[in-house]
Amino acid sequence: MKTVAYVLAGVFGALGIAFILGSGQGPTVRWLVYGGVLLGTAVFMIYLARSKGPEMKITHKVDFTGDTELQQLRCKSCGAQLASDALQMKEGAIYVKCPYCGTEYQLEEKPKW
Ligand SMILES: [Zn+2]
Repeated sequence: MKTVAYVLAGVFGALGIAFILGSGQGPTVRWLVYGGVLLGTAVFMIYLARSKGPEMKITHKVDFTGDTELQQLRCKSCGAQLASDALQMKEGAIYVKCPYCGTEYQLEEKPKW
């Protein structure tokens, strides 16, 4: 996604510069406006591509904190410590499937606060 935004920004920027340079050959101010708008779009796209980076990292961090909480998760039936791959998402609920005894049950949400 990021690469696409940069490529588009490059295309818009090049077009904008071409329009502004081309405006010298004609009497129209319109070309200058088009060029400005295109350059503005290019800058905006680069800004968007840059600002999206940290956001994605934050969502990954949330996933990791979820994983660390799972380390304390134990099977209801046999008490074995369960890894994150023992969890499955089904219709918005979290299901646990114990790899040791084969028990499958829905994980109840326990608020930590
Ligand atoms: Zn078990």
